[in-house]
Amino acid sequence: DKTSLLPPSLSESGLSAKAIESDAVVKPVSGLGSLATTSSSLPTPEDGSEPNRTLVVGGQGNYLHLADGRKILDACGGAAVACLGHGVKEVSDAILSQVATISYVPWGFLDSQSRRDLSKWLSQTSDGHFKKAWITSSGSEAMEGAIKLAHEYFVWTGEPQRVNFIAREESYHGITLGALSMGGHLVRRGPFESLLFSGVYRIPACNAYRQKLPEETDEEFVSRKAEELEQAFIQAGPDTVAAFVAEPVVGAANGCVPPSPGYFKAMKAVCDKYGALLVLDEVMCGMGRTGSLHAWEQEGVIPDIQAIGKGLGGGYVPVSAILASGKIVRAMEAKNATFTHGHTYMDHPVVCAAALRVQQIIQRDNLIDSVRSQGQYLEKLLRNKLLDHSNVGDVRGRGLFWGLEFVQNKATKEPFDPELQIARRIHETALSDPYNMALYFGQGCAGHAKGDHIMVMPAYNVTREVIDTIVDKLAAVVDDVFGKLE
Ligand code: PLP
Repeated sequence: DKTSLLPPSLSESGLSAKAIESDAVVKPVSGLGSLATTSSSLPTPEDGSEPNRTLVVGGQGNYLHLADGRKILDACGGAAVACLGHGVKEVSDAILSQVATISYVPWGFLDSQSRRDLSKWLSQTSDGHFKKAWITSSGSEAMEGAIKLAHEYFVWTGEPQRVNFIAREESYHGITLGALSMGGHLVRRGPFESLLFSGVYRIPACNAYRQKLPEETDEEFVSRKAEELEQAFIQAGPDTVAAFVAEPVVGAANGCVPPSPGYFKAMKAVCDKYGALLVLDEVMCGMGRTGSLHAWEQEGVIPDIQAIGKGLGGGYVPVSAILASGKIVRAMEAKNATFTHGHTYMDHPVVCAAALRVQQIIQRDNLIDSVRSQGQYLEKLLRNKLLDHSNVGDVRGRGLFWGLEFVQNKATKEPFDPELQIARRIHETALSDPYNMALYFGQGCAGHAKGDHIMVMPAYNVTREVIDTIVDKLAAVVDDVFGKLE
């Protein structure tokens, strides 16, 4: 009976109904990070063609140059994309050289050297754990492929009934229908809810600030989380679940939330018990952003399938990848099969050449070491200069991936009324004169997530002086915005 494999609708689900009741839909806003609110918040074309956003005419290092003459300090790299900063000539040279050699190779029956080189690099830098990479264009495509690969793995291994997934609240996995189905971002799911996969069982996120009880130890908290996963497996029917899908450090949905110690080990143990795969979405937190090439290296687990994006190409080209472990590739080869998947622009030679150069620069310049050391400095400054503020509830993150959550009342952690659009105000004030700084923001945006947050995610080669400037400006912006509320 196929219907018995389906989860209850979100509104009937005991796991998520409570969170939904308290969700407030926020008003549309425009500008950077506008997707963080509602789908109708995309900038409205005012003249029938182009939205009215400030023109960027150039960029160098940590700065974006605007047509109105201002220089904007890019403290977020877009959405954690610009890991090398702007205007790195070595990367544009690599792109030009590849275009001059061959710009398109039909991947279905021919190959390019740059794809081979990037693929080899991605395997070697993960100690050979990943045996195959499909190079795609966006994080959504990579997640879409990761989900399909998880199911097809079970087709190859004789368990095609594994059609369900378990994913978390306060998560975002992309905007295409499969990836959107995995995400717990209720606002972005909004108009499309009835189109999304029914076979996704949702469990709470791992958010110590909001969920850990004062008397609870990390171990107790983590075993509670593992029990939630266990219950979802039981509810779904354990042998119907293909994979548990999660971001190691939560990004856009809730502002840089790292897992509690031991969380992923405990979750992986539950997946292993029921024979399901672990699919990690490192589109935002991966490729060095949190101080190790892969965020899972700090968790003591290895995923079966992984999606990467953003920092892979540093914003120079649209690039992402689906990475498959030996276990997946062996199952495919045993069947003499190929992954039933592909896009016209998959494995694009120019994109591969650019991504490889970005990754070579990160390695050559020891930038992941810098992420760790500069990240510690950034954390210290954020805590020293902002955590005392009466409306800063939480400062959290890892590496150069930091989020601040704003609350009305620190003792009760009561969030602001979403109507006030606190995070948007902070973002807009920061972007305006005299601050001239870009911050990423989200506003109760995951639906399940309670508060407003902003994210600080500078380039890996950021200097201490620039970090000083970022935090000084941020503290001034926070004072400015909350001062006007009083
Ligand atoms: N997964 C995560 C964790 C993300 O943060 C994002 C984008 O923010 C995506 C997937 C989707 O990536 P893209 O916007 O490149 O499609």
